[in-house]
Amino acid sequence: MFRYKPGYAMRLALMKDDMVWIYCACGYSAPVYVRDVLVTHPHLETLCDLLVRTRCTACGVKAAVQGVTCSWVGRHG
Ligand SMILES: [Zn+2]
Repeated sequence: MFRYKPGYAMRLALMKDDMVWIYCACGYSAPVYVRDVLVTHPHLETLCDLLVRTRCTACGVKAAVQGVTCSWVGRHG
């Protein structure tokens, strides 16, 4: 079950140099590179937009995100 958190409103355009680890309810986790997301899904605006569209490659459930860890590659601004 996808649970919204305030941090999920982060704009993807501001995270394009970052990687996020997305954790599924089934225990699977995978890295997602924001730059790649913006290339394949340029209409997505926020991290939340990405998470609700994410389908787990292990169990196939959509938006089963349990948590996200951001790996800040660089400082912004
Ligand atoms: Zn899963």
